[in-house]
Amino acid sequence: MDIFLPNRALFEREALDYAVGGQVYYKMQELGVETRFIGSHNRVTGIPGKTPQEAFLESKRTLVVGVRRSLDFQTCRPSAHYQLPLVTGCTAECEYCYLHTTLGKKPYVRVYVNIDDILKRAGEYMFQRKPEVTVFEGAATSDPLPVEPYTGALKKAVEFFGNAQYGLFRFVTKFTNVDSLLDAAHHGRTTIRFSINNQFIIKSFEHKTPPLHERMAAAAKVAEAGYPLGFIIGPIFYYPGWRQDYEEMFEMLDANLAAPAAGAVSFELITHRFTRRAKSNILEIFPRTKLPMDEKERAFKYGQFGYGKYVYPKEVVDEVKEFFEKKIGEIFPESRILYFV
Ligand code: SF4
Repeated sequence: MDIFLPNRALFEREALDYAVGGQVYYKMQELGVETRFIGSHNRVTGIPGKTPQEAFLESKRTLVVGVRRSLDFQTCRPSAHYQLPLVTGCTAECEYCYLHTTLGKKPYVRVYVNIDDILKRAGEYMFQRKPEVTVFEGAATSDPLPVEPYTGALKKAVEFFGNAQYGLFRFVTKFTNVDSLLDAAHHGRTTIRFSINNQFIIKSFEHKTPPLHERMAAAAKVAEAGYPLGFIIGPIFYYPGWRQDYEEMFEMLDANLAAPAAGAVSFELITHRFTRRAKSNILEIFPRTKLPMDEKERAFKYGQFGYGKYVYPKEVVDEVKEFFEKKIGEIFPESRILYFV
């Protein structure tokens, strides 16, 4: 997969006071990317696009470089204690993406250049909770890997947590440019998870993402480099042929992960769900989407924030759960399933 090349890069002037900001600025100029200055990374205007689809696609090709001013971290239950805000947004165009709801109609990709301040703040959070270990999630509102070649933020975070007695780091990605992380001094304190699905689902809905075999090759590399490894399988879809397609995915996983990697792998399993709001956002951006979003085929479940979601009915969930637990148990007997929802 080629490196992410934005159509435009928008900078807060203050971002250039930081080494990373300057580095990204010169890189963009070198690559011939249009660069402009903006007032604040929170209020970005001037991204072109006459229709919601165009605005969406242009936003995905817009890199915004700013200084993270709020250093209050959001909580991140259940997968971690806090979000580590290094990147917001993602260059991929998955039709089902949760960011359509959280980032609105113009989901531009934001990177923060004051990485040292952000990590220092993480240190304060750890200090407050010690001797408990505090877990930080680096991909709560992003896929942080596509912009890593420009900022090196993940590598910095990995090495920071490599030396943090009371902290652990984790992030998830669909991307495969992991080489710069392989020699990082992680000391086993960062878990890298890959988000995977079967090939039919990837082809149908996960636009601008690397294919499955490349994700598996990247997973094998990070496991080889000693990182704790995980897979998020999701969203899991139920459709005619689902069993065969996921069966094939597991066979590929089995063939691609060498024995040492298969040791302590963790799995997170998420069945497909949607909210009314997500559905209407998705239909605006992808009017011809084939995502299954027929409320009549789903069960309604009240969510913790007052809005409900449409999930698969219980019989379907039970059938899918049994299949995944069996497959994972057969192929990776030493692995752990962290949750199935
Ligand atoms: S890779 Fe993840 S964050 Fe990026 S568009 Fe796809 S689902 Fe969203």
